[in-house]
Amino acid sequence: MREFLVAGNWKMNGSTAASEALISGIVAGVPAGSGFRLLVCPPFPYLASVASQVSGSAVALGAQNVSEHEFGAFTGETAPSMLRDVGCDYVIVGHSERRAIYGETSEQVAAKFMAAQAAGITPILCVGETLEEREAGTTNKVIDEQLDAVLDTAGAAVFAAAVIAYEPVWAIGTGLTATPEQAQEVHQHIRARLATGNADLAQKVQILYGGSMKGENAAGLLSMRDIDGGLIGGASLKASDFLAIAEAAAQS
Ligand code: PEP
Repeated sequence: MREFLVAGNWKMNGSTAASEALISGIVAGVPAGSGFRLLVCPPFPYLASVASQVSGSAVALGAQNVSEHEFGAFTGETAPSMLRDVGCDYVIVGHSERRAIYGETSEQVAAKFMAAQAAGITPILCVGETLEEREAGTTNKVIDEQLDAVLDTAGAAVFAAAVIAYEPVWAIGTGLTATPEQAQEVHQHIRARLATGNADLAQKVQILYGGSMKGENAAGLLSMRDIDGGLIGGASLKASDFLAIAEAAAQS
C-alpha cells in the first residue's frame, strides 16, 4: 500500500516572516491520521529556518532545485550535500519551469536526480507535456523521453528512492486541472513504463499529480488508483488551502 505524499512547492514566494507564518500554520494543522506525509519546499534562503520549525513535526523539508555537481566553482548553485546539511530529505528536479525558463535538459535533470540520491536526498522527478504536445497526441512520448533519461542511465532500481510527479504543463498555475481520468491515464502509463524495468518496484513508487490541485479537486484526483499525492504550487502558499489537500489525503 503506497502512502500519499502532499508536497508544497512555494516557488519564489515569501519572506522570512511569511515563511515562518506559513510553516507554523501548516505544522499546527496537520490532520490526524496516517497513510500520508506532508512536505514543504521553500526557497533556498528560508530552508534553514523552516528546517528548525518542522523539526519533530510530521512535515518534511525539501528544496526546489539542486546542482548536479558535488562542489566547486559553480557560482550561484547549491550542492546536494548542502541541502542535506540543512535538513532536506527531498528535492524537486526537472520542474517544467526549470526546463522551460532555464533550459534544463532531460540529461541534466537525470544528473541532478543521481546527484541528489548520492547525497541521501529523495529526488522528485517532474515530467509532463505541454498543451501542444497533448493536442498532437504525443503525451506518452514526451513522458517517456523525460523518464528514460533516468531509466536508461541508471536503471529502474533507482526509483526505489525517488518520487515522480506528473505535471501537465498546461495545468500548472493556470487554474486548469487534468480530470482524474486524464491524470490516471498518464500515471498508469508511467507505472507501466517503470514496470518494464522492475515490476515490483513500479507498484511501490509514489507518483504525484501536479497542476492546479486544490481542496476542491483533491479528493477526486486522489481517489484514482495510480495517484499517490500531489505536488502543489499556488495552493501551498496558504496554510488552510494546503491543509485542505492534506485533509483529502488523510480521508482517502
Ligand atoms: C507546480 O508548479 O508544481 C504546480 C503544480 O503549481 P500549481 O499548483 O500552482 O498549478
